[in-house]
Amino acid sequence: FWTNVPKGLSDPILGISEAFRKDHYQRKVNLGIGAYRDDDGNPWTLPSVAKAKEIILNSNLDHEYLPTEGLNTFRKTAALLAYGQCPEISENRIASVQSLSGTGALRLGMAFINRFYPHHKVIYVPKPTWTNHKNIARDSGLEVREYSYYDPDTKGLDFYNLLRDINEAPRNSIILLHACAHNPTGQDPTQEQWAEIHDVITRRQHLAFFDMAYQGFASGNPDDDAYGLRYFVKEQNSVLLAQSFAKNFGLYAERIGLFSVITDSSAETDRAVSQLKILGRAMYSNPPLYGARIVSTVLNTPELYKQWHKDLLTMSGRIKDMRVALVEKLKEKGSRHNWNHIANQIGMFAYTGLNPDQSHNLMTKNHVYLTLDGRISIAGLNTKNVEYVAEAIDSVTRN
Ligand code: PMP
Repeated sequence: FWTNVPKGLSDPILGISEAFRKDHYQRKVNLGIGAYRDDDGNPWTLPSVAKAKEIILNSNLDHEYLPTEGLNTFRKTAALLAYGQCPEISENRIASVQSLSGTGALRLGMAFINRFYPHHKVIYVPKPTWTNHKNIARDSGLEVREYSYYDPDTKGLDFYNLLRDINEAPRNSIILLHACAHNPTGQDPTQEQWAEIHDVITRRQHLAFFDMAYQGFASGNPDDDAYGLRYFVKEQNSVLLAQSFAKNFGLYAERIGLFSVITDSSAETDRAVSQLKILGRAMYSNPPLYGARIVSTVLNTPELYKQWHKDLLTMSGRIKDMRVALVEKLKEKGSRHNWNHIANQIGMFAYTGLNPDQSHNLMTKNHVYLTLDGRISIAGLNTKNVEYVAEAIDSVTRN
């Protein structure tokens, strides 16, 4: 039956973890995977999450199915966390369903677009973007196009061409925007630039689809990280939103997320939710419970909510420190290149500017693993390995 099945390409990011596992060199460093590590290089359970787990354990709860739309307390507080207190919430104009983390939220949102969006089903993603965006969009039946985002010469936003491309996209296109901590470039629009992006999108009657995988993780403040999203909503734009709780709660494998869309009325919300439930029911029937309970407990318990803010600062603070440390160590090594962009970028990743050959050498000669586009996960750096990594980067970028 299956003799014609060709071998698929392995995912570029997951493939790197595999190569890292097979490497037995003692000082090897994994900067490929986008997961937070503490200063000893170990996964970190947030103290707020640990306390929520205790509360849940002591409550002796059962394991009954959730409804397809998910845990209600989670849906409510997750939407509040993203949008802030706003008329759309009080008027029941946010249709939401719990999703299988950020990926599942994107998948559900794009399936919804494919089934109900009354215009052409074209989605524009930034160039470059998280590699899975294109897979998800294509598998959801959407046509994928790109808009300019990054200028390798300035190592900053290619803002002029970004606006031009969005302006030239056919009216009513879907525009995917990273809400904060753009992956892989670490470059976010400024507040003024958000306003300009908003103006073009509105003038061209496009629909913005926000992907918010790092709320609170970028600046340490969830409200600041939601600036772009909330600006669009305040200006009365309908938006779609994919939220992930993988990074900001450290709940990677629990697969906790929320898909939501702003509607025109409470009645429209009910209809949209009913259709999202039909889509979810056929894909996975109902979402997981444990992580939803954890997020909901943290966000709804004042003491844990406070602790969570501290946890966000612990993670984002350590990442900022490591950015600065890496740049300093590179200077100490006598590197003639300017690495300041690494310290200025935001979020978990740095887009180093290393080309594929240099990235390849870093892995094969120095046992430092990263994606071939030169993206490194700053979370993989710590006070014990940052000097070694700086030495390795310097050695592959001499000449
Ligand atoms: N969007 C972006 C930009 C991401 O970087 C990620 C995680 N790497 C996701 C979405 C989704 O991750 P998850 O499905 O684990 O929530």
